[in-house]
Parts: sequence; C-alpha cells; structure tokens
Amino acid sequence: MPTDTSPDASSDAGTAAPPTSGGQCGSTQTLKEAARAAGKSETLARYETDYPVGPHDQPQSMCPAFGSLRVGLRMRRTATVLSGSACCVYGLTFTSHFYGARRTVGYVPFDSETLVTGKLFEDIRESVHELADPERYDTIIVTNLCVPTASGVPLDLLPDQINGVRIVGIDVPGFGIPTHAEAKDVLAGAMLKYARREVQQGPVAAPATPRSDKPTVTLLGELFPADPVGIGMLLAPMGLACGPVVPTREWRELYGALDSPVIAALHPFYTASVREFEAAGRSVVGSAPVGVEGTDAWLEAIGRAAGVAPELIQAAKDAALPAIAGVLAAAPIDASLIVSGYEGSELLVARLIIESGGHVHYVGSACPKTPWSADDAAWLKARGVEVRFRASLENDLAAMSAYEPDLAIGTTPLVQAAKARGIPSLYFTNLISARPLMGVAGAGSIAQVINAALANKARMAQMHEFFDGVGRDETAGIWEKAPLDQSVKTVQWSKQWARKLEKSIASKKSTAQKEGEGIT
Ligand code: SF4
Repeated sequence: MPTDTSPDASSDAGTAAPPTSGGQCGSTQTLKEAARAAGKSETLARYETDYPVGPHDQPQSMCPAFGSLRVGLRMRRTATVLSGSACCVYGLTFTSHFYGARRTVGYVPFDSETLVTGKLFEDIRESVHELADPERYDTIIVTNLCVPTASGVPLDLLPDQINGVRIVGIDVPGFGIPTHAEAKDVLAGAMLKYARREVQQGPVAAPATPRSDKPTVTLLGELFPADPVGIGMLLAPMGLACGPVVPTREWRELYGALDSPVIAALHPFYTASVREFEAAGRSVVGSAPVGVEGTDAWLEAIGRAAGVAPELIQAAKDAALPAIAGVLAAAPIDASLIVSGYEGSELLVARLIIESGGHVHYVGSACPKTPWSADDAAWLKARGVEVRFRASLENDLAAMSAYEPDLAIGTTPLVQAAKARGIPSLYFTNLISARPLMGVAGAGSIAQVINAALANKARMAQMHEFFDGVGRDETAGIWEKAPLDQSVKTVQWSKQWARKLEKSIASKKSTAQKEGEGIT
C-alpha cells in the first residue's frame, strides 16, 4: 500500500492556462509572469538570486534542463520523470542518449485540457506511485519543464516519499535557469536539502564505498575521473582525503558529502548546493588546484579551512608544486588564445594555459560571477585577460575578431566560426572538459591537446584557401544560376508585403466611405 501523505492537490493543480501553446524557448517575460501568477513566485525569486542574469540571460545553447536531467540519469537506483512539451522532452531524451545515458527517461504527457484542469498533476502523481518500487529505486526525480512551470504544476505537493522511495520534484524552466550548468545545481541542491533533512531526523545509511578515516574534502563539480585521484594525492600530506564528488552517483554519497568539514567548490556555480553545505556548518573554498600558483593558493586555503598545521600545508606544497612546475616547463604552449564555454571551468583552463606559457586574451563563461571564481577572475585580470561572465556568443565572436588568436577554444558555434576563418579551434566540452585539469596530470594534459590543434594551422589555412569563393550561408555550394542573397530577397518580400498592405487598407477605406455615403 503506498504511503502517500501529500494533501490533495487536485483542486489547485495547474489552474492557470499555459501562456503559450508550444512552450517556445522565447517569450521569457510572458512565461515568467504566467509562472508567478500560477504560484511559482517564490521559486522564481530564489532562482533570480541564485542565478543572476545579465547581460546574457537567455540560453544560447541546449535546453538548460539537460543539466539536471544528466545529473539524475547518472545516479544509481534513480528514476527520472519529465513533465513538459513533447518537443522539449524529445530533444532532451535525444541529447541524453547521445551522451550515453543508457537509462529510460519517464514522461508524463499533457494536453491543454489536462494542463488547465489540473489533471496533469494527478497524472504525475499516479506515475510516481506506479514507479515507486523500493526494490528498484532509492529516488524518483520529477522535473517540470517550461510549460508546466509556467502553469504552476505544484510538484511540491507530491509526497516526500512513497514506500521508502524518495520523491524529489524540481522546476527547471528555461525562463528561470539561464544555463544547463546551473540546472545541475538545482537538482544537486534539492537532493542535498532532502539528505540534510534526513540526517537531522536521525541516523542514515552509511555510503556503500568505504569511508576514509581521515577528514575529507567534498569536491563540488562534475570532474574528469582522474581529477579526484590527483586531488587525493595533493591532499594526502595534509592528513586529508578526497570525499564524495557532488553531483553524486548514488544517494548515500550525499550524506558523506555533507559530512566533510571542507567543501571545495571547484566549479563555481553551485549556489544552491553551497547554501546547503553552509547550512550544515561546512567551510566552502573556491578556485581549484590548477598550475603552480593555483595549486599553491588552493592548498593553503583548504589547509586553513580544515585547520591543518602550517608545516603540513607546506609539506603538501613541497610535494606537489615542483612536480607541476616541471611538467608545465616540459610542455610549453607558445600561442595566443581565446577561451569560452558554459561548463564553469573556463577560468581554470585559462589559468593553466597562461602558466604553460600561452597568451590568453579573453575568457568568456556563460556562468555568472560568484564568490567561488572571484580569485581566478582577479588572477586573470591582473595578467591583462578580458574576463566576461554571462558571455554571449556575440561576445565570444567579437573577441575572436578583435584578438585574432592562434587558437579558439569554445562552444560549437564559436568553433564553426573559427573554422570558417581558418583559425584552429577546440570544442571546450568534448576536448577540454574530457581530460584532467587539476594537479600534475592536468598540467601535462592541456598542452598536449592545444599543441596538437595548433599544429593544424597550416591545414586549416589550406582548407580555407580551397573553399574560398564557394559562397557562404544560403549562397554556399554549386548553383546553375547565381543564388539570390536572402537579405535581398527579404527586402523584396518586405516591399511586396507593404504594397499589399497599403492596397488592402485603401480598399477597406474605400468600402467604408461608400457605406457611409449609402452606396452599396
Ligand atoms: S523546456 Fe527547454 S527546450 Fe522546452 S521550451 Fe523550455 S528551454 Fe526550450
């Protein structure tokens, strides 16, 4: 028998009509107003504080909900259910499987009627009850996408648990969460909040992985698998060990994460998660152990936060810094670059490139400025780097034009633009985030991929020359007749439309006049 203790929400679930029929990614203001009117003011106000926007406040890449979806799909014994427009769910599931999710994504469909009458909430509740099998799951995560959030579908009225399976409901609308990075924090923060409440209520199950007998440091941010190992080696001389990585891979790791006295906010955008750690009385340290100077400062900050004796902090530095300096010197980068991305680690990557000898002109991050990246931003600015938070694609493209770098690291559209100009480029997500960044391993790794890309410069120039003159955008290719420039076509169409409109107004006026004069 299910143990659903939630109040009956059928009377007020989703009583507001959807503001748009299709849940387009646009019309942010309309969707926000609708969500506020439908009872989501508190949630949106919290998101506005946690994820400040401006000047770039619209997702320019994938749907933000992909971030939280991915976090849920990577957790063991966790079911994920989406509630949103079918087109959004299609895109999200497609992307999750493209990234190798190998896990079913649940979907509760809706139509105008179920949304307006509140039946959608009932359908979600029913599906959650059906799924809540403690043999299979520890947790069910239900996510409201744009339209159900704007319509006020009240996931907070779902039961906290059913048959011992935890139910976590989150709103992840594109009009409230600017990037998919921050959507990861929405879910991680919600799960930490739930786990913290469980800890407050009494003893909880120990994590499955054996726990260290040393004080641990929780690592905040999705890391390349080698990085926690490398960080563990950096911490060892201080008598500290690596704790869990948040977002975690299983529920019980959340208890271990909350138990660490120090939290390393390696990725700086986990505002809601940091709030939970601070509420649990933990110290949070920003930046990360990248390069010699970054590692030096990070070991000092972590050691102090953990109350480690100064001589042990020095011992940790002595063990790590000469090795990192040696690797950096053995793999120098001699080039000018721009770096941009939406992973939150852009500033760290730029620091490492500069310590490797590279000249970084510009760093753009789609993430906001937070206290946890303040030291990195100051370090970069002191070296003449233009640092831009909430950077848009336009900012990145302008930087490429202004600085004409030897290499551009960035998102897909920036890389495409760089290729079109014959500039070697690297995808941040696929090629930079997919390798170690911290400690000794990170120092050697980044130069390898950057120098390999730079070696392609001659090939890029050759390709640029080869394709020169084939046209661009809609005029690219081989045509029997010269293709019409679409901008010219648009002007022609506008003129035609204006003439048509004028004729129609004139005809209406003339009819009205005739009617007024009694002529039929
Ligand atoms: S859920 Fe994502 S894809 Fe759908 S409308 Fe919102 S931002 Fe766009």
